[in-house]
Amino acid sequence: SETVERHEFGAEVGRLLDLVVHALYSDREIFLRELVANAADATDRRRFEALTNEALALPADAKVLIAPDKAARTLTISDAGIGMAKDDLAQNLGTIARSGTRAFSQALGEAKAGEEKATEGEDLRPSLIGQFGVGFYSAFMVADRVTVTSRRAGTEEAWTWASDGKGSYTLEPASREQAGTDIVLHLKDDADEYLESYRLDHVVRKWADNIAVPIAIRDEEGKEETANRGTALWRKPKSEITDEQYKEFYRTVSHGFDEPWATLHWRAEGALEFTGLLFVPSMKPFMAMEDDRRSKVRLHVRRMFITDEAELLPNWLRFVQGVVDTDDLPLNVSREMLQSTPTLQKIRRAVTTRVINELTSRSKNTEKAEEYQKFFENFGPILKEGIYEDFERRAEIAPLLRFRSSTEDGWTSLPDYVSRMKPEQEAIYYLVADDVEALKNSAQLEGFRARGVEVLLLSDHVDAFWPEQLGKFDDKPLRSVTQGAADLSKFKPEGEAGEIPAADKLVAALKLALGADVSDVRTTDRLVDSAVVLAASGSGPDLQMQRLLRRAGR
Ligand code: ADP
Ligand code: MG
Repeated sequence: SETVERHEFGAEVGRLLDLVVHALYSDREIFLRELVANAADATDRRRFEALTNEALALPADAKVLIAPDKAARTLTISDAGIGMAKDDLAQNLGTIARSGTRAFSQALGEAKAGEEKATEGEDLRPSLIGQFGVGFYSAFMVADRVTVTSRRAGTEEAWTWASDGKGSYTLEPASREQAGTDIVLHLKDDADEYLESYRLDHVVRKWADNIAVPIAIRDEEGKEETANRGTALWRKPKSEITDEQYKEFYRTVSHGFDEPWATLHWRAEGALEFTGLLFVPSMKPFMAMEDDRRSKVRLHVRRMFITDEAELLPNWLRFVQGVVDTDDLPLNVSREMLQSTPTLQKIRRAVTTRVINELTSRSKNTEKAEEYQKFFENFGPILKEGIYEDFERRAEIAPLLRFRSSTEDGWTSLPDYVSRMKPEQEAIYYLVADDVEALKNSAQLEGFRARGVEVLLLSDHVDAFWPEQLGKFDDKPLRSVTQGAADLSKFKPEGEAGEIPAADKLVAALKLALGADVSDVRTTDRLVDSAVVLAASGSGPDLQMQRLLRRAGR
């Protein structure tokens, strides 16, 4: 009809869709995780907005319904959530609105470049999709056409967005009795399995079991059955939770496929009451580390999800995932309140301390040093941000850091460095450059090496900033070798190898030994790897010419 508007996708969306359509079979089931999560988020958002606007109140039986239709070969996911107005549909589903998805397409570009090089032809794409989730667009892994009919809560209008995922989408007026959203997937020929209710049930239990909103699946007879347990896992006693349940929960909150490196589950009692279930991932996600630096730990009040924007942890712990649930806040916390309420400030402080304590004890466990190093390789650069951002926690963060060193193999720490300091040594020396190999060969190190003075080698992009901010560790000033060269006179050269005579003495000795064979011996800064170079004197023919003359028998 004439009311149908056609729009082109942005270039980024096109690229993403291209990828999604060719995703591997094994990875496809996560489309359901993504769509169900969106439906649950929309439901939570409506409940949250209804706290300050009664007109938006959720129907009592609000749920997410998954309805397969074998005859029509469609799968419909419906919710009674906040819904989308026309502009929301265009913005949210027509462009790459969220930073994570954008980070994904960038990582994809890099992975593709890698693939072309790879001789094995190993396909990196599925693991990338798994790690990121590509949100709504993952629907096109199983569907060759998707329609979204939505009515924003508090409005009368409904609109239908439709696309075959090939460059454009349409928008047209529609009708919907209640506020909420229906996503209709017209399944591809090879996606039959998602018409089977037992298969859908399996996927929901696997990926969405902890979602609090009921998720019902309609079976062949039209009966609806709730598939998720919706248990607030964190409220259960530790002794009743299996490792597998923790792991599953971690994967639901993190959208990841890895295992947690650390699981922190505790209940704070007394003046402040809350439960925390937090995880440190074992793999570095591509997403949300640079684009959005805020912690996404979820805040629940009396089990109910409130927001993931409460910044329950400082930016430099943003890699930590999970949930904090408290009874000490009212259910209708507003955005302003999130900023200012002292209760939340106290919870933030307590949660941060708990995470630091965990990291500290793991960093001190020498039997599991390698495990800790893996963590540090993933998230060390982010931790370092805390040194220049968080004055208060600086001293606690410093011992958590690991470094390469001019005298030690592997990783070392500031406390270990201090324990190896020479008696006459006052400062902790460090050198910053782009990569550790360059650092190891740096001429700046020679004087320190000759005197057996250890230098920490720093090569993360944040390393240019934090040492000065930290200033001291254990009362020892941190000093760059470029500023510390003057200190060298304090240290005696060590052993034979260390006995490098001053350049002047060497020049004198060489002149004596070579006598009339050379016109001069000079020091130079032209050399990097070599000790000596023959140079033509300023006035004579250059060396290349001299060689030619000699070969010609002159
Ligand atoms: P994300 O969920 O990470 O923001 P998605 O690609 O999954 O990214 O979804 C994009 C956006 O589309 C969401 O942020 C939301 O605004 C909107 N959206 C998707 N599904 C729904 C839904 N069922 N109800 C309301 N809004 C939705
Ligand atoms: Mg989503």
